[in-house]
Amino acid sequence: MKQHQYEALIVGAGGAGLMAALHASQRAKTAVLSKLYPTRSHTGAALGGIGAALGNLEEDKWEWHAFDTVKGGDYLVDQDAADILAKEAIDAVIELEHFGLPFDRTPEGKISQRRFGGHTNNDTGKPVRRACHAADRTGHMILQTLYQQCIKNNVAFFDEFHVVDLILNNGKACGVVAVQIGTGELHLFHAKSIVFATGGWGKCWETTSNAHSLTGDGSALTYRAGLPLEDMEFYQFHPTGLYPTGFLITEGVRGEGGVLINGKGQRFMEKYAPKIKDLASRDVVSRAITLELRAGNGINGKRYLYLDLRPETVNRYLAEAGESRRIDAHFIETKLAETCDQARTYAGIDPVHEPMPIQPTAHYAMGGIPTNNDGQGISDAQNTVVPGLYAAGECACVSVHGANRLGTNSLVDLVVFGRRAGKHAGDYAKGADWTPLPADAGKHIEAELNRLRNANGKVKPYTLRQKMQQVMMDKVGVFRNEADMKQAVEDLREMKRQFKTELGIDDRGLKFNTDMLEAWELGALLDVAEVTAYSALHRTESRGGHAREDYEKRDDVNWLKHTLASKSADSDEIKLDYKPVVMGRHQPKERVY
Ligand SMILES: Cc1cc2nc3c(=O)[nH]c(=O)nc-3n(C[C@H](O)[C@H](O)[C@H](O)COP(=O)(O)OP(=O)(O)OC[C@H]3O[C@@H](n4cnc5c(N)ncnc54)[C@H](O)[C@@H]3O)c2cc1C
Repeated sequence: MKQHQYEALIVGAGGAGLMAALHASQRAKTAVLSKLYPTRSHTGAALGGIGAALGNLEEDKWEWHAFDTVKGGDYLVDQDAADILAKEAIDAVIELEHFGLPFDRTPEGKISQRRFGGHTNNDTGKPVRRACHAADRTGHMILQTLYQQCIKNNVAFFDEFHVVDLILNNGKACGVVAVQIGTGELHLFHAKSIVFATGGWGKCWETTSNAHSLTGDGSALTYRAGLPLEDMEFYQFHPTGLYPTGFLITEGVRGEGGVLINGKGQRFMEKYAPKIKDLASRDVVSRAITLELRAGNGINGKRYLYLDLRPETVNRYLAEAGESRRIDAHFIETKLAETCDQARTYAGIDPVHEPMPIQPTAHYAMGGIPTNNDGQGISDAQNTVVPGLYAAGECACVSVHGANRLGTNSLVDLVVFGRRAGKHAGDYAKGADWTPLPADAGKHIEAELNRLRNANGKVKPYTLRQKMQQVMMDKVGVFRNEADMKQAVEDLREMKRQFKTELGIDDRGLKFNTDMLEAWELGALLDVAEVTAYSALHRTESRGGHAREDYEKRDDVNWLKHTLASKSADSDEIKLDYKPVVMGRHQPKERVY
């Protein structure tokens, strides 16, 4: 096994990983490992914007942003973290601007801002313009900008290195093992601090906005190392996935005035969220769409509704609302260029002239590797720090999104907490002694990869993956109940058994063996899916993205707490523990939109 040594290691080159790398590299010798070429990370697909209370177009305050985040998260948000998110968002966006990020501008040259779901003027309850954006390519621009800065700062990049193991010694993180995808060689990296920034796991579900690479690797690795995963039952379905692929149509479409219409031609969100209608938080809108579909109100009886962005429709509703603003074809083509392109390419629909067919799509993991506000991994309900281990971005749970994330808040999370994790990991690495690698480091994973590469059973990884995705979609989706989730846990356990004993793959080679690596990713997905279903089964209330048909109400008396799920030391059983939510200025109230 080839060996490398860096003081700080960042696993993942999305927005969180690159922001962490940039700040760690100013303090310690830093390398980034990424299974994708960095600029192909999913952050590049983020469209609509990054929220910050700059107040460039109308009055706004970071305290309003913090409150919206807490309310949007159905009060499961740690309020100290929400304050940090909202306050530091302002400065982080300015930092990105100074790095050269080409934001859209107002006529006076300030950063332009648009509306997004759940972001409000707290005095009036009306939507506020808070999402800073570069057309509808905001994530792409963030990724390119941060990558350039990392190159400028001499961060070492190991591109197309797939991390498959995390090594702890005496409870301290000290290394990872990675497969160099092009050669199949294994590499052992020794480090003082390790930041996981591996993104989400939308690929657990059948219909998802997520890229193929989003398989929960980092979260599965820390889980296997005996550390807990927090609040995994909270997974967000975005209301507007393009039908039938699930590709995301950004909330920016509704931010600019687009409306949801059912098969009866009604703007049904008026019924579910009379105040902010189509811009209610995502859990609310996804449930409304699912209920409309269940009531037989799909378009022509099918499993989709319309998202209508045609100027004539939007302008009619803007006029009805007493707004002077109007949109036209040029506006749509420039402000929502990527959306137009995607709808035309993937659905054959021209959004300027036709409504877009949409359905809810699995989108974002609120839960993940538990961390404190400096990105340090924690191992229990007492917030005990795991020395040297960090996580940031979608794979982490600070917890700033609680039970439901607001649009634009993930990009904020990446830069605010990516920066905090990078700074802390860099400083820690400078000061700490080296923890030695155990003598058998990497041996176990080497054996497991050999098993996978030579597996000749009858069950193909892609059939197992499809089965898992269907089970998760049907039984752990927008609405949930006990019987379904029990069945899901049982089904997933059976799939894990098949994964261990009956798997068969075709490619026995070493170079670019994606057959083997996809099988390994399936193992990660199965772990994460099981923890999700199990945590969800045991939370007997409805909150944010976790909506139960058998427990319809939020239950603050018993459930205002975070779930911590970990693997038992001596078996594959899952252990559940709980820890209190950090409260602050806001006491739980009923959410009215
Ligand atoms: C289509 C779409 C649109 C979105 N739009 C918005 C938006 O407008 N605003 C917003 O706030 N949020 C948006 N989101 C959410 C947001 O983009 C993501 O949550 C965020 O980009 C995740 O960033 P990340 O840095 O955590 O991970 P990612 O950007 O997903 O990057 C993960 C990185 O980890 C690496 N990696 C993973 N596993 C391994 C492994 N085993 N070994 C080595 N490397 C590994 C990958 O190579 C990659 O570099 C959107 C998401 C999607 C899918």
